[in-house]
Amino acid sequence: MLMEQERELIVKYGKKLISSGLTKGTGGNLSIYNKKEGLIAISPSGMDYFETTPLDITIMDLKGNLVEGERKPSVEYEMHLIFYKNRKNVFSVVHTHSIASSTIAALRWSLPAVNYLVGLSGENLVPCADYASFGSKELAENALKGMGNGYAVFLANHGLLTTSTDIHKAFYIAEEIEHCAEIFLRAKAVGNPVIISDEEMVKMNILFKSYGQNK
Ligand SMILES: [Zn+2]
Repeated sequence: MLMEQERELIVKYGKKLISSGLTKGTGGNLSIYNKKEGLIAISPSGMDYFETTPLDITIMDLKGNLVEGERKPSVEYEMHLIFYKNRKNVFSVVHTHSIASSTIAALRWSLPAVNYLVGLSGENLVPCADYASFGSKELAENALKGMGNGYAVFLANHGLLTTSTDIHKAFYIAEEIEHCAEIFLRAKAVGNPVIISDEEMVKMNILFKSYGQNK
């Protein structure tokens, strides 16, 4: 079986998508790119995360050819492949339908730095990509363009997409951006949130690079 370790991680983080409240039902999708193999492991289309086993994970190449697996890949596979083809520092893509992020995406707003954790997106704000139908090539292109050089983007009237060098980090960014999105909406509901200055956010970016346990 190809990419056993990556398959297991997709199963593990798929369950976490539900248990952490980032997605309901079969919404969202996850993938990991193994550059050495030139292959990606991606969650299957429309399967219950708690019924998905490593065997259900689909293995594809960067051209979108099915290499191994019985299941249909996520309908959003183009949106995953486009990042691996165009971003040198992206090895995992996480897509969620989390409520606060999807609310901001419904408003087609961006998320300013209402909390220092917005800086985990690699930018001072999380932008919202232009609308396109789910599963379309246009949505993949809009997401890539919308994210720019950062690691998070809202998909208009849809949800959130995050990327990173591995699935642990991409998932963590998705959790924290959802947290910040909720803070932003709550703050907006009762007043005018104060936005952290660009200068301070540059400092945050430097701090984030040395934060946590160095492996
Ligand atoms: Zn979606």
